[in-house]
Amino acid sequence: MKTGVYPREPNPLKEIRIASATHPMAYIGTAPDAGQLIAILLKLANSKNTIEIGVFTGYSLLLTALTIPDDGKITAIDIDRKAYEIGLPIITKAGVEHKIDFIESPALPILDKLLENLVFMLQPEKEGSFDFAFVDADKNNYWNYHKRLMKLIKVGGFVVYDNTLWGGTVALPEEDVPEPLRERRLFIIEFNKMVSADPGVEMSLVPLGDGSTICRRIC
Ligand code: SAH
Ligand code: CA
Repeated sequence: MKTGVYPREPNPLKEIRIASATHPMAYIGTAPDAGQLIAILLKLANSKNTIEIGVFTGYSLLLTALTIPDDGKITAIDIDRKAYEIGLPIITKAGVEHKIDFIESPALPILDKLLENLVFMLQPEKEGSFDFAFVDADKNNYWNYHKRLMKLIKVGGFVVYDNTLWGGTVALPEEDVPEPLRERRLFIIEFNKMVSADPGVEMSLVPLGDGSTICRRIC
């Protein structure tokens, strides 16, 4: 981290990481090394129009905003605007706030609304107008998110699901897993199984940070 990652971390991201460090939940912020992978994938997918589920103080959001072009757009969804407001002044100072549409809400109804809008506007061809999504919120809904994102993201676009190793507990027998991690672990295990069996994507679970599952929509 010290020699390979921090020296390359853009200053605004450093600032947001430091500003988040005193938050009692600071540990849930995206790790800078996982961020490097997201930035590469955003560029590989030529991402202009993206979705972020789970903003917290905005590390991955700012990373995305710094990476996509000036006329790019991020639909960023989180139930907690307060945490976002910790990062917002840094995002504004970095000059990328205009790319962000922050929506304070649970993510699932917003994804449904995005899909409905397309039907309502009779623009089924717009289905698949997003290039990229980063999913990093309530793990029990990952499969529900996946089903919707596979319609919202275009063929050839990417979705990255964070924390799919769940602290390594997905590979442990249940009795060795601390009680507070157990319930979500089962959802992650189920998600990993379902996504592995999904013929609509190419996928790879990268053991970086807490595990990132990269999916590329292929049909
Ligand atoms: N990507 C962030 C970390 C996200 S942590 C970063 O780079 O720092 C997870 C976030 O998901 C929290 O901010 C939490 O408020 C949010 N969250 C939890 N349940 C949610 C839901 N149902 N819909 C949207 N956001 C949710
Ligand atoms: Ca995470």
